[in-house]
Amino acid sequence: LIQLYLPLNVLGFAYREIRQGLTDTEEMFALLDEPQEVADAPGAPALRPGPGEVAFEDVRFGYRPDRPILKGVSFRVPPGRMLAIVGPTGAGKSTISRLLFRFYDVTGGRILVDGQNIRAVQQQSLRAAIGVVPQDTVLFNDTIRYNIAYGRPGASEEEIVRAAKLAQVHDFVMRLPEGYDTMVGERGLKLSGGEKQRVAIARTILKDPRILILDEATSALDTRTEQEIQAALRQVSRDRTTLVIAHRLSTVVEADEIIVLQDGKVVERGTHAALLAAGGLYAEMWRRQAQALAKAEEAAGLDDAP
Ligand code: ADP
Repeated sequence: LIQLYLPLNVLGFAYREIRQGLTDTEEMFALLDEPQEVADAPGAPALRPGPGEVAFEDVRFGYRPDRPILKGVSFRVPPGRMLAIVGPTGAGKSTISRLLFRFYDVTGGRILVDGQNIRAVQQQSLRAAIGVVPQDTVLFNDTIRYNIAYGRPGASEEEIVRAAKLAQVHDFVMRLPEGYDTMVGERGLKLSGGEKQRVAIARTILKDPRILILDEATSALDTRTEQEIQAALRQVSRDRTTLVIAHRLSTVVEADEIIVLQDGKVVERGTHAALLAAGGLYAEMWRRQAQALAKAEEAAGLDDAP
């Protein structure tokens, strides 16, 4: 069973000591409050409603002009489908999600949402159409109800409970001393990573965006937590266009397409089965995973020994 729960990046992916990712909601909101890196064009219209198609066309970008990070990335995610992005740390995976959210403007190529160049629409309308479930959610020092309702201020109690149920967090909340009135966050009850992520998922279900960005946790979770999170993620990504920075086997196996990013370029793309059969970088990752697993199982065996 253990193999289903091993995160993809103990599979021999180079680890960098600091993960610079779209790691938490607070970081995102902090960014939103900062002077904008990007500005709306005068008279820019709002993003028109649509089914949620996302396209990157030869996207080029660097945080500094002398250091390109994305070197011509193209993909198309049809409405409601799931694209998994995998690759070594530093390949540019989080950068793709930041560009879609338009924290920065591309330096070449274009990003389209339902055929509209995201540079040409109001940022606020773009961000309203995208939900983000970060790897590590920071909760507000407030009640669990507030933390969930943040997804849609003014949501009714029934809507909050429904979202919490879909996100597999309702039963957990009901076991807390004060239920939905329990104070959480740094100054309240501290939740585990898995519990916080399910709160973030409930929040996103309430927000009901047409596009979803998921940044999966890299750390191994226990079996039960993993299953609850997978069930919650399945709910939130259902019928939504989903881009996932994937670290878990269960996710990539279910993705409609996987792109393997290396050094700012898409080096392989296809389904899990097709990529395994192709015998390239992705297949190599799996070979290394098998080795890591064998070692982990051996170590677990040794631990059990008297
Ligand atoms: P991944 O998500 O695949 O690990 P990232 O997209 O986070 O990779 O980062 C790609 C590259 O961009 C890395 O070399 C990283 O150091 C660099 N980078 C990320 N964020 C910034 C930033 N804000 N300023 C400068 N460089 C950055």
